Order: sequence, then C-alpha cells, then structure tokens
Amino acid sequence: MIMIDGSLGEGGGQILRSSLTLSMVTGKPFAIENIRASRENPGLMRQHLTAVKAAAAICGAQVRYAEIGSTRLVFEPGRVVGGTHEFNIGSAGSTSLVLQTLLLPLALATAPSRLVIQGGTHNLAAPPFEFMARAFLPLLARVGYRVRIRLTRPGFFPAGGGEIVVEIEPSTTLEPLVLETRGALVRRRIEARIANLPFNIAKREVAHAGEILGWNDEEGAALQIDDAPGSGNVVLIEVEHETVTEVFTGFGRQGVSAEAVAASAAREARDYLAASHAIGPHLADQLLLPMALGRGGRFTTGPLTSHTRTNIATIQRFLDVPVLVHFEAQDFVVELGCPSPSGEAA
Ligand code: ATP
Repeated sequence: MIMIDGSLGEGGGQILRSSLTLSMVTGKPFAIENIRASRENPGLMRQHLTAVKAAAAICGAQVRYAEIGSTRLVFEPGRVVGGTHEFNIGSAGSTSLVLQTLLLPLALATAPSRLVIQGGTHNLAAPPFEFMARAFLPLLARVGYRVRIRLTRPGFFPAGGGEIVVEIEPSTTLEPLVLETRGALVRRRIEARIANLPFNIAKREVAHAGEILGWNDEEGAALQIDDAPGSGNVVLIEVEHETVTEVFTGFGRQGVSAEAVAASAAREARDYLAASHAIGPHLADQLLLPMALGRGGRFTTGPLTSHTRTNIATIQRFLDVPVLVHFEAQDFVVELGCPSPSGEAA
C-alpha cells in the first residue's frame, strides 16, 4: 500500500486527484492522510468526493473513509472499464478537475467511454472549460490521446448546474510530448463572458484587458451567456502559437471590479508573451500525468509552481519514472523519461 501525505508541498486537492489517477492506471492501492491540509477548509469537499466516487465507479474500487470533510482515504483500485457514466458534483465544484481524475485511466482502458459531468464549468482556481478544450486536450491529442469535449451548459459559482460531455476513445499508440518552442504567434483574442449580470461589465473587461495588452478592438469580444442557471462572469485570453495554445483566465466575483478581473488575466497573458518558454504554469502541472503515463517527453516552462513540484513528487510515489528539471538559456526544462508498463523506468 502506497502511503501519501496530503499535506506535502501544495497540500491541496491535486495530490488526491493525481493519486487516484495513478492508482487506477498502475493498479497500486494507496492510503492518504492530511487531505488538503494546507487549505482553510481541509478534507474532502464535494468536488473531491465526486472525484473519489467517480474513480471508484469506473474501476470497481474498494474505498474507505469517503465522506465530506474526511481528511483520510484508502483506495484499492480494480480494473478500469469504459462505458457511459454520469456524475453530478451537486455544487459548483469543478467539472474539469473531476474529468482530469478519470481521463487518463479511461483513455488507457480497452473500451470507449462517454462521461457526463455536472457542476461548475468556470470556477476560481480550476481550469475553465475553454482551457480544457483549447489548451490542454489539443496537446494530449498531439501525442495520441483521443478525447472530444463539449460544453452543454455553463455553470458558475455558486449556482453550478453546468454540464460537460466527454467522449474518450482508447489510445492505442502514444508518442512523447516534445514542446521546446512555441513557434510564431498565430492568433490572440480576449473574450469576456457574462451571465445574468449587466452586459457593461463584460465590455469594460474587454476594454481594460485590451488596454493592458495593447491589442486592437477587433481582438476582443464581450459575449452574453443565456443558458447558465445562475449569474457569472469570466475573462478568457487565448494566445495561440504554432505549437501550443494557452488560455489565461480572470474569474469575476462579488466585490472585485471588472477592471481587476480583466487585469489578472491580462497580466498573466502579458508575462507569458514576454517570456520564451512554450508552457505556462497551469499546463505545466497538468501535462505531467499524461506524459508520465504515456511516453514521457520534455517541455520548456517558467519557474516551477508548487503544484508542479508536488505533482512530480506524487508521480514518483507510484512510478519509477525519471524526472529532470534544469535551467537552459532563459527557460526551465522539464524532462520525463518513459516508464515501462511494470512501473520500471525505461
Ligand atoms: P483546493 O485548492 O481547494 O484543494 P483543488 O482541489 O481545486 O482545490 P488544487 O490542488 O489547488 O486543487 O489544484 C487546482 C488545479 O487547477 C491545478 O492543476 C491548477 O493548475 C489548475 N488551475 C487553477 N487555476 C487555473 C486556471 N486559471 N487555468 C487553468 N488551470 C488552472
């Protein structure tokens, strides 16, 4: 049984989700303590509990201590089976993060799957739907993961009620992911989306983000969302280069001005554009598992975040995969070897 201390490094929900994914793919059981110890509200919240129950459902796992607020869990996986599954987080918890837990085990299973996940689709501190659809999944497709995603209904905090539908085909052959340079700029765009709130907020956000970035009016759009169950607002800045698309997000919330929401996304986009590495901070931590469970590879990025460092450490608890981080020219290079199916490094 692999023992995981959930308080290490970032000490958030990611250690649990990564452990679930790695456990399902390797077949190795694990026990985790101190779940989300570094958060104000430690223990399993609805999003994490849904991820645990969904993981158990797709592989027939034996699970102990899976309840709201629990700071420990024991997970003994069975064999992952494809098929159709529907999971409702029952709050505005992130559908993207539940998907990330299940995606790789299902992609590496032998039968296709269809997932319907209900909850939040645009949540503070989680990948919004557009990040999954335009940044993360296209890179997975490049190495051979076969996943299609659709937003049926957006859901914002606190109402939730959003829905994504995901179709996953078994990945038969995978390639290493090599992303050293981003190539030339192809397209850039600011989108402010607004649901059940004054449209002028979205217009102010587009104008302010455009001003910070020095982009033209035609490169921005304010969009009304009509089908969200509650109110919500998000600013998405998409930067497409030849080899990689990044999506930077500002999440609207009560008490924060439209300008501040726009500025948080615009500053992230500006910092990325001013640097030379291919992969931004969120993609960096999220690409590690598909690489470690696939054929490895390497990418350039900025200084490693604590999410990235913690994910590397979690991967190394389950797989004997060499991970090298070094500084070259002006970038950090993260390099993952290719583990053999038995977990031995190749
Ligand atoms: P908690 O922090 O409450 O434990 P959590 O379970 O949501 O919450 P974290 O461990 O903080 O988990 O992981 C959040 C994940 O969401 C990380 O992979 C991080 O890169 C990703 N993420 C956060 N913000 C964004 C964003 N704006 N765009 C893309 N990904 C994001």
